[in-house]
Amino acid sequence: MPDTIVIAGAGHAAGQTAVSLRQGGFDGRIVIVGEEPYLPYQRPPLSKKFLAGELELERLFLRPERYYAEHDVELQLNTRVATINRTGHKVQLAGGVELAYTKLVLATGTRVRRLAIDGAELPGVHYLRTVDDVLAIRQQFRPGARLVIVGAGYIGLEVAAVAVQAGLNVSVWEIADRVLARVASPELSAFYDRVHREAGVELKLGLPPVTEISGQARVEAVVDGNGQPWPADMVLIGIGVLPATELAEAADLPCDNGILVDEYCQTEDPDILAIGDCTNHPNSLLGQRLRLESVHNAQEQAKTAAGTLLGKRKPYAQVPWFWSDQYDLKLQIAGLAEPDCDRVIRGDPEERSLAVFHLRDGRLQAVEAVNSAREFMLGKKLIAAGARFDPAELADSSRPFKEIAAAALN
Ligand code: FAD
Repeated sequence: MPDTIVIAGAGHAAGQTAVSLRQGGFDGRIVIVGEEPYLPYQRPPLSKKFLAGELELERLFLRPERYYAEHDVELQLNTRVATINRTGHKVQLAGGVELAYTKLVLATGTRVRRLAIDGAELPGVHYLRTVDDVLAIRQQFRPGARLVIVGAGYIGLEVAAVAVQAGLNVSVWEIADRVLARVASPELSAFYDRVHREAGVELKLGLPPVTEISGQARVEAVVDGNGQPWPADMVLIGIGVLPATELAEAADLPCDNGILVDEYCQTEDPDILAIGDCTNHPNSLLGQRLRLESVHNAQEQAKTAAGTLLGKRKPYAQVPWFWSDQYDLKLQIAGLAEPDCDRVIRGDPEERSLAVFHLRDGRLQAVEAVNSAREFMLGKKLIAAGARFDPAELADSSRPFKEIAAAALN
């Protein structure tokens, strides 16, 4: 077993790796180096309950501070890993201190994609990735404030839901012609489009890209692609993220939309692993390489990497899943929905409960479930089992889904 495992990044995947290593019996040195000032924490509440002020900061932490002391996990927070010296088996921290490793785990996550237009750095223009981002946004969350959200992806829509319920005037701008265009089926987009409009959110879809954010000392307006300025007190930009590969790239580790790893989370260097949002990894269950941005993937890759480090190698093969909370709606998505799949809807959008099943040649590929926990839970199993369905049978809502699923699993 290695003597010293250094983990670069102190997010969800990093925290889980330390926990899994100790649970697996590793008794060597573990050092987590993270550039943020916080203990490893979960990000999903940042755009949900934490933004709404319904969750204390401490509740975000994966483990309380005493866990790390009790399990002898060293934390170097507020510290960036600046470079990797692969031949010397050392990382250099910002400030110059060097740290030797036997094995290094890269868990650097993603960075927000920034909008490169005039005014994008004005006070009042926000991104949402960290606790500090939310603390800054919350300071401006006042009833009546005009919030323009650029991007109708999950983060944009989750923030829109919290903001409109807090009494802000919310407008969401999107270049695609539907919300969630990159990540959800047209049926789901149509459902969330209606829900947000009914809640009072203004949706502007199919817009030419924003050209400028204007203001003297702080944001005053957002200028649309037609040159028209729209008054705004604050702007949230939610146009996606990019994998944080700079450390790996500078160390000549192969990257291609993420740090390239194998099914054991191993990079090209036998002493360096990578996990979580920053990786491009193979999934044998799905027969393809992926880069995912989800808690489930961060946790499972952390467990896989810990297994590799402990000499208990087990390939990563998981049905991806993800969730999003907006208003009273819990969306849970299992599998990968491709545009060319056949789609079958069960449930009733009017009742705020539905599931969209994605089939390829009858085989279930993905389920998008809104307030439909059973369809999601069984859907995950059915995808892993490669279950096949007759679309007409699946659409028959007079038959309980449990029964249809049981028949497909036999
Ligand atoms: P991160 O959690 O991003 O952690 C990486 C850490 O590494 C960061 O703290 C970063 O600052 C640090 N770092 C980077 N480079 C260095 C360096 N050189 N030195 C030191 N530290 C470094 N997923 C879901 O499944 N469901 C959800 O509902 C959901 N909602 C989300 C809402 C928001 C607002 C956000 C931002 C994300 C959400 N996600 C959700 C995604 C989920 O949080 C991520 O998939 C998960 O955090 C990935 O974990 P990670 O450890 O790979 O990366």
